[in-house]
Amino acid sequence: MIEFSVLGSGSKGNSTFLEINGHSFLFDCGLSCKQIELRLESIGKSPSSIDAIFLSHEHDDHIKSIHTFARRYKVPVITSEKTFKSGRLEEKKIKDAVFIKSGGFFSEFKGIDVFFMPISHDAADPVGFVVYSNGVKFALVTDLGYVTELVSHELKDCDALVVESNHDPELLKLSEKYPWELKQRIASRMGHLSNGDCARLLERTVSDKTRYVVLAHLSEENNNPDIALMSTARVVRGMNISIDVAKQGEPTPIYSIETV
Ligand SMILES: [Zn+2]
Ligand SMILES: [Zn+2]
Repeated sequence: MIEFSVLGSGSKGNSTFLEINGHSFLFDCGLSCKQIELRLESIGKSPSSIDAIFLSHEHDDHIKSIHTFARRYKVPVITSEKTFKSGRLEEKKIKDAVFIKSGGFFSEFKGIDVFFMPISHDAADPVGFVVYSNGVKFALVTDLGYVTELVSHELKDCDALVVESNHDPELLKLSEKYPWELKQRIASRMGHLSNGDCARLLERTVSDKTRYVVLAHLSEENNNPDIALMSTARVVRGMNISIDVAKQGEPTPIYSIETV
């Protein structure tokens, strides 16, 4: 059995919980430690059950409480060495760090393989994650400026997919709060994925096998859940896929998939 919940997602912090056959993992640790504890408890999970934390890249909204959480619960951190160094992570606070290069696999826990999928983003060595276990494929990818051939190839036929749907390009263009440089950064090939690009990625990747799609890392300023859902709903029309939006302030429900 696989269970997952996006505990929180957006530019103020990201973390996703995944449980596979009794092992529990966090992907990114960008909410405060207190919030991760509270949100895990609110979905009936214990922070002390976490076996490992995977980090996608060194931006603060993905690593904010990694020192506190890893030390408090004595959890190993699995990430690339470049991310570890660029995020100024400290080995004395993180007892156990396992380095995996982007493009590599982590296969040390029984029955789970995690592919560190390279993505395009303005960080040292950013990745998305593709997790394989007992015939189930789960993927999590946010903070990518555009979809490479590799990304659309690797995300094919997932049972569950958490994917960035960051902004509506029109809202971003019209936004009065964001300075021009920030707009350029978000829209660039090293920035964040628009709703339209997310829909095109789903068009190329979802299949009859796919049960869940969760749209994530939505901009609070340049997007809203209805617009994001509308742009992707047409892709999954007629398919047996539940599509949802991850929120910044509260966890999604727990989604479950039976393993073979
Ligand atoms: Zn981010
Ligand atoms: Zn980022």
